[in-house]
Amino acid sequence: MAQMPIGIKPKCSFICASYDRKKIATIPDLGRGEKDDNFHEVKKCLQQYNYLGESSPDSQNTLDESTASALETFQQRYNIPQSGVLGHETKEAMAKPRCAMPDLQPGALAFSISGAWRHRNLTYALGKLSQSIAPSVCEAAIERALTTWSNAGVGLTFNKVADTEDHDIFIEWRRADDPDLNMAGSTLAHADFPPGFSLILDGPPVPLHFDDEEHTWSDGAFEDEFDIETTCLHEIGHCLGLYHSKVPESIMFPTVSSNMTSRTLADDDVKGIRRLYKTRPNVPSRSEPN
Ligand SMILES: [Zn+2]
Ligand SMILES: [Zn+2]
Repeated sequence: MAQMPIGIKPKCSFICASYDRKKIATIPDLGRGEKDDNFHEVKKCLQQYNYLGESSPDSQNTLDESTASALETFQQRYNIPQSGVLGHETKEAMAKPRCAMPDLQPGALAFSISGAWRHRNLTYALGKLSQSIAPSVCEAAIERALTTWSNAGVGLTFNKVADTEDHDIFIEWRRADDPDLNMAGSTLAHADFPPGFSLILDGPPVPLHFDDEEHTWSDGAFEDEFDIETTCLHEIGHCLGLYHSKVPESIMFPTVSSNMTSRTLADDDVKGIRRLYKTRPNVPSRSEPN
């Protein structure tokens, strides 16, 4: 059983502890009880995504028992053999571009949902769009991602309003050192959960922010570029109340590669959203789970 953090605070001091994935790549393979000067970066990574609680400063570079246990949980979720030690596959999984939101809900490993909105007719506003792509193309990608969640059969709708009006979700491309959640180094984007379940600042609006400084965004699969619709679909899942999934096919899996698209919901995603938003009679459904 992984040692879990005491709890996530309403402000993001805990999840902002950003780690250096390049340093993680330089650490040699380590067994239990072994040390490396950069091993604290592995601990920061495990802490950021809720696998590990705070560790004492004197043991921060040692692969101790609580870290081994956290590594086993991480390996299980990323389909890596559960050794509890630091090997090549684990370092590779930690270095992949990913979402900044935590993988695990503190204290409840089995749960994959946070909490739902009280209304389903949601509004959103757009701030600065990606500098990588024409605004109309960027906006169309966002709209398609929202439509995919609308089609999940639980009656969710998304209407765009001006940012001067009240809105539920605010979508914007920002600098890597985003003041509400630092995305520098290892993360592509972040969002937050619905009001009442927030990890950052209790909205509305709930943020959906992309890193526009360290990543190039695209409409489609292009080398070294990230598909807007794919990442937006994932982040909106958080805005609706979903945590990360351990199912690799799920849109809520925490890592994504460049040069690919994944623009549909998996059965796991549909099951998750239907646990959060009970299906009402007379709501048309285009995607039935098993
Ligand atoms: Zn995420
Ligand atoms: Zn942000």
